[in-house]
Amino acid sequence: MNFATMNCRQVERFLSAFVDMDFSGLTPTEIVSLEKNIHDCPDCSRELRLDIATKSYLRKRHTETPCPQPTIDSVVAFVYHIYQSMKASYSMDRHAGN
Ligand SMILES: [Zn+2]
Repeated sequence: MNFATMNCRQVERFLSAFVDMDFSGLTPTEIVSLEKNIHDCPDCSRELRLDIATKSYLRKRHTETPCPQPTIDSVVAFVYHIYQSMKASYSMDRHAGN
């Protein structure tokens, strides 16, 4: 896709990543186009400031919530089950001479 001249709808798709300084998927030309639109368009500029304020607020309010032990136990059991299945499958392949 070519975003050499981005319109507001296209900019909207990249705003959140832009706030995080994540430019993955964009060429240098597209980054310049994105910045130009944000600079020139009051609506996109306002959206950007709102996004920055929202992310900043969430970062400040962020608290660690411990994972409940039953959830940890069930994830560990599931991963162990997959590990055992893969190990058994690998072992069968070796015995079959593959
Ligand atoms: Zn705009």
